[in-house]
Amino acid sequence: MEENLPGSALAADYLVDLSNVVRDRSLGGPGPRSLHRFRLVIRALVHMTTDSRVAVHPVADTSLLGGAREFADRRDVTVLRRWISAGLVEEVDDADQRMLELLELTSAAGTRAITGDRFVGHRREHPWLQGDNDRFLRPVPTPSGSVRLVPLEMGISVDAEISRHEELAAFKKQGLLRNSRRPPSTVVNRFWRCPERRCTLYDAHSGRVLLPRLRGGVPTCEVHGLPLADAGARPAMAQLKLMVDGICKARYTVEEGTRTGIGRNPTAGIALYDLLPDRLAPRISREHVIVSTAGGILLVRDVSTYGTRMRTLNRHGRLGPWARLPNGQSRRFAPGDEVELSPGVVLTRSGRRFPAELAAAWQTPDGKPSPPTAASQTTSLG
Ligand SMILES: [Zn+2]
Repeated sequence: MEENLPGSALAADYLVDLSNVVRDRSLGGPGPRSLHRFRLVIRALVHMTTDSRVAVHPVADTSLLGGAREFADRRDVTVLRRWISAGLVEEVDDADQRMLELLELTSAAGTRAITGDRFVGHRREHPWLQGDNDRFLRPVPTPSGSVRLVPLEMGISVDAEISRHEELAAFKKQGLLRNSRRPPSTVVNRFWRCPERRCTLYDAHSGRVLLPRLRGGVPTCEVHGLPLADAGARPAMAQLKLMVDGICKARYTVEEGTRTGIGRNPTAGIALYDLLPDRLAPRISREHVIVSTAGGILLVRDVSTYGTRMRTLNRHGRLGPWARLPNGQSRRFAPGDEVELSPGVVLTRSGRRFPAELAAAWQTPDGKPSPPTAASQTTSLG
């Protein structure tokens, strides 16, 4: 279970509105509050993504533990306390606000949230919620006692929609729109430091890096309420998954500016031999593909004996047909694209992007976060 909790929204594939899930009696489990419901959600995610290491960042409000008496199973309280003190669960005063903030910060990466809440009261502040069908999944019980995740369609809240237009009009008049928001990529791709000397909440060396809270667009320390200082660039990573016969067998991170050979047993890079069944291994070359970056874009190049196929996501979030990669030529490897080393052995790229890709994704004409097509695609593999 804890292997699914990386302790950082940046490293997570999914955010979970923990209080909402734990309080949802329709999911089974005893009492008004039950951590069992959260376990069922993790199980559903593992099933849906075929990835036993699927990474989840739960956000809880302080009232979840504040109402500890409502947990039918006292062990839930102990576990929850431990997770919070270890930083595996982010505890804040206002989880709704934080969930939406994290969704905005990770919008270009396409991180999705699990909740039954439609956030109607937040639509004036977060107009992107209107009509959204991509970023939210809702847990629903199945007859067998497990949980299934279905898209949560946000729909349009008419009153909020009207206010939004009024607000946009007012902003435009004052020329504030352009400056009112910091592009999330500039927050996500920097390290931050609290001016309070003993505060290590955002310490780059802690291994787990908390994304700062934004107060009026300014990264702010959650505890001290002080504006955070910029502590330098955060090295960018892309994540690859190895799928064997449709099951995620391993996850790898590729750092910007590196060159990584991937194959049965490359001299340097990612060796797959102990992850491949005997029938598949002989079709994979010792070094099969090379993944590298250029100008902040991830590239893949075929260097194999038997060839490599690739299919890419189109603008509508659908995968195109398989096409053979021309040997020795680099091709762009975007989130959601699939590279097939041999039938049954596929590398996919998860939603997280490099800054250059993030910045490009942010520059949509209306300034709205672009839809998380890549993530929808990678999670529909089950
Ligand atoms: Zn602080």
